[in-house]
Amino acid sequence: MTYDPQNIFAKILRGEIPCNKIYEDEYALSFHDINPQAPIHALVIPKGPYQSMTDFTAKASSEEISGTLRAIGKVVDILNLPEDGYRVLSNTGTNGGQEVPHLHFHIFGGKRLGRMLV
Ligand code: AMP
Repeated sequence: MTYDPQNIFAKILRGEIPCNKIYEDEYALSFHDINPQAPIHALVIPKGPYQSMTDFTAKASSEEISGTLRAIGKVVDILNLPEDGYRVLSNTGTNGGQEVPHLHFHIFGGKRLGRMLV
């Protein structure tokens, strides 16, 4: 599938839709999820047009990949999550339950998150 530049995260990246920003650098943008599933629920998205992990790992440069992963680490620090722990998750495709077709990493924290899958 080709990348859909009209997806909501692409619009956020272009500044067409606002977000509650946590962090931004040349590789990634992070903002609070609009419908939080935990006391802390952040999203980190690469700035490049990648639909999924599959796409990202196949096509992104090493700098984009390491930059996005480092951005996750920075957001985790900004949100003071390292001491109590947290979860990073990326849904891909139909079976993964992905709703927005722009790669994103969820960061959950602020409570004991329980089992990985219910
Ligand atoms: P997924 O199901 O993994 O594709 O997750 C998509 C996530 O994007 C959901 O948790 C939504 O609540 C979140 N979301 C959708 N639109 C927005 C938005 N405008 N700002 C912030 N988060 C959003």
